[in-house]
Amino acid sequence: MLSNTSKMPGYSVSLSAWKCKTGDKLAKIKGSVCHDCYARKGRYNMPNVVDKMEERLKFFNALDFVPQMVAMLNKTRSPYFRWFDSGDVQNVRMALNIIDVVKATPEKKHWIPTKERKIWQEALKLEALPDNAVIRYSATMVDDTPPQDWEHSSAVVKNAAPIGHECPAPTQGGKCGECRACWSRDVKTVSYHKH
Ligand code: SF4
Repeated sequence: MLSNTSKMPGYSVSLSAWKCKTGDKLAKIKGSVCHDCYARKGRYNMPNVVDKMEERLKFFNALDFVPQMVAMLNKTRSPYFRWFDSGDVQNVRMALNIIDVVKATPEKKHWIPTKERKIWQEALKLEALPDNAVIRYSATMVDDTPPQDWEHSSAVVKNAAPIGHECPAPTQGGKCGECRACWSRDVKTVSYHKH
């Protein structure tokens, strides 16, 4: 269920980018951060990957998702975990379950990228986000400044100057190396280069 990419310092979990709610609308808009999405192309459309994504969506919606996910995370050594290296939260119940997983794994740091502002706003009215997680709300369009009223955010830049912390991965072989900015509550905005 979890992935361990060489790029990042820990494990991650993904859902199909075809299931993104806001992302699906943005994917049709030229110049949006979801247009030409890498997770809707190439190997992501291979039958085995599509099947894995379906399986993972069932897992996210399972009644025992929280204890299963906590058990899986507790088996991993890295203190860093990334939610949604593709895909996004689907509904408020899923968001609340994610918060419960974060609460139950206080020794892990959770990075939760999202474009689903309303879903997270509703969830956060019901349950506060623990200190060991960062929800990074993404700007909608490439080169746009993300909404400043959200505590943590991200931007994608092509021609504009980077906003906040510039992701160093392109200059270090596509890897995070020592950088942990995406997980840091001290970093308000991270900018990624459009590739
Ligand atoms: S900003 Fe740092 S932590 Fe985030 S993806 Fe880039 S290298 Fe990794």
